[in-house]
Amino acid sequence: MGNAKPSAIMAVAEKAKKLKSEGRDIVSFSIGVPNFLPGEHVYAAAREALAKDSGQYGSNRGADALLDAFLKHIEALGFTGYTRMNCATGIGAKHILYNLAEALLDPGDTIAYAVPFWTTYADIAEVLGAKILELPCPSSQDYKLTPAQLDAALATKPKVFLFNNPNNPTGMVYTRDEIAALADVIAKHPDTWVITDDIYNTMVFDGIGYHNFVMLRPELRDRVIFVDSISKTYGMPGWRAGFIAGPEVVAKALTVLNSTHITNLPEVVTAAAVAALAGPQDVPTAKRAEFQARRDLVVATMNAIPGVVCPKPQGAFYVFPDISCAFGKSHKGVKIANDVDFCNVLLEAKGVACVPGSAFGEPRSLRISYTCPEAQLPVGLERIREFFAELA
Ligand code: PMP
Repeated sequence: MGNAKPSAIMAVAEKAKKLKSEGRDIVSFSIGVPNFLPGEHVYAAAREALAKDSGQYGSNRGADALLDAFLKHIEALGFTGYTRMNCATGIGAKHILYNLAEALLDPGDTIAYAVPFWTTYADIAEVLGAKILELPCPSSQDYKLTPAQLDAALATKPKVFLFNNPNNPTGMVYTRDEIAALADVIAKHPDTWVITDDIYNTMVFDGIGYHNFVMLRPELRDRVIFVDSISKTYGMPGWRAGFIAGPEVVAKALTVLNSTHITNLPEVVTAAAVAALAGPQDVPTAKRAEFQARRDLVVATMNAIPGVVCPKPQGAFYVFPDISCAFGKSHKGVKIANDVDFCNVLLEAKGVACVPGSAFGEPRSLRISYTCPEAQLPVGLERIREFFAELA
């Protein structure tokens, strides 16, 4: 545990909160929280469950109604042929990812993932004493992993390859052809488990759709584990429900870990998650259109700034511009040497909170999460534009 670090994203959010409490006008582009609620049917289901809550322990794997609602949800995404025995639940995708790592990795085993990566991946590996194989994916390759890179990595036989699509922090989404090409590589390397952390799967723009390795190559089902969650899709991050669909042996391992650690998801959470997954899907559908428009505004603004390189993401609610053109310059006499300086000076001078790219392993960039209240988005972007114009 001596190696464990608190989340770098939370550190920025805390600093922004402190400045706000001191009366500063802060626009937060930092933490990746949805700005919407799941809809009245979810609260109605939760209230109903409360009214008749048995208060007893529940199933370690997850209630049958929840597993069935999840199966219905993933069938709509394009997964077919899965049963309850392929599924398990956890306290959000974060807990699921930790449990998967605990189940699949022994100390000293290697986990491979593309960089930039969601910060928690490194934290989980560190806590468990696993080795990390980083696969660098710079902005010049749109932050995406290439088949050749994956081939070389899997040739070293890592125990686990952890894949994230749509991606946090870059917002990038792999097309059907790109997923097919990576699936071909995975098929060549049978010694590696593949985890696909795809919790932003409903937030995909430009009609490119969500694709998974197992949809294109069903024979990979015996070692690909799909991870999902209600947090981002339905605006329910604090409810804490996450899922897998994968090989029966892995779902069983997670069920055993649940029996050791948590016993079961709370009954009220279960009822709310069932309502979200199996009920009307107008919230995620509406959000997809809204976020696509926001993405367009952020990317256009960032690319209009001389020197900034901002690849256009197709999903999630993040944009990840390369702002390294600012390094070595000063803002009103304050020197900016790197991404951390950039974010600190931007926050102090303009009241805009972003997360430094180094938190995700890419120190040339920063992450903009664009789920703030609608009216704040143009305000924050204008302040960033001004900030760049004032650099000398
Ligand atoms: N994976 C990714 C890529 C994420 O961005 C997040 C949340 N920020 C999670 C997993 C964890 O989600 P949950 O709230 O379901 O634990």
